[in-house]
Amino acid sequence: MHFDQITTALENVNTTINHAQKKSLRPNISTQLIAVSKTYKDVAILPALQAGQQHFGENRVQEAAQKWPPLRAQFPELKLHLIGPLQSNKIAQALSLFDFIHTIDREKIARGIAREIKKQNKKPGLLVQVNTGCEPQKFGIEPNDVKSFIKFCKEELQLEIEGLMCIPPVDEEAALHFSLLAKLADEAGVQGLSMGMSGDYEKAVRFGASWVRVGTAIFGSRN
Ligand SMILES: *Cc1c(COP(=O)(O)O)cnc(C)c1O
Repeated sequence: MHFDQITTALENVNTTINHAQKKSLRPNISTQLIAVSKTYKDVAILPALQAGQQHFGENRVQEAAQKWPPLRAQFPELKLHLIGPLQSNKIAQALSLFDFIHTIDREKIARGIAREIKKQNKKPGLLVQVNTGCEPQKFGIEPNDVKSFIKFCKEELQLEIEGLMCIPPVDEEAALHFSLLAKLADEAGVQGLSMGMSGDYEKAVRFGASWVRVGTAIFGSRN
């Protein structure tokens, strides 16, 4: 997309979020837009940064390491969110690059993050990914295990988990998954909800999303 188109698309997404917030089931939660910039280059990202967008999401550590350090030097206020699966051999690098990790999905990763946070003296925002659809091929903690996993993170690892994240199955009504995620967060005593993508972020806001992760609706379709 052209520079102007990205700026306009970003404005439209923000307008949609603001309208949906007025009908939110969690009216005192404000929704933060994460512009998902995976696969897009600087020419697409710069117009969003210049328009004041501060939160960006990437799903690969390697790609973020190549793209973001120079942009951060120019825009020191920006916040970077890891929204893709994290491998244990990338934890150190991920914590040096990202301000938020949305994809804590197993004990080993939680332990690695706890270790690295001490080493690097960082305080990233941390979310647990939940496999709300119980899909065998998907990442995430099963709904039934969320409460005990959060307790484990908190008590054994002293990790401050601020919320839950989900990616609903493509062929199911997203609203069911958004309301399940909200319920699980309530039960586990955490507040943040990372849910909603280009096709369903308006719905996610109405179910009380704290973060929506929107890519193609801002930057155009990925090849
Ligand atoms: C790519 C991606 C998004 C954004 O998807 P769009 O459909 O482009 O808005 C959101 N969340 C995750 C985890 C992703 O990988």
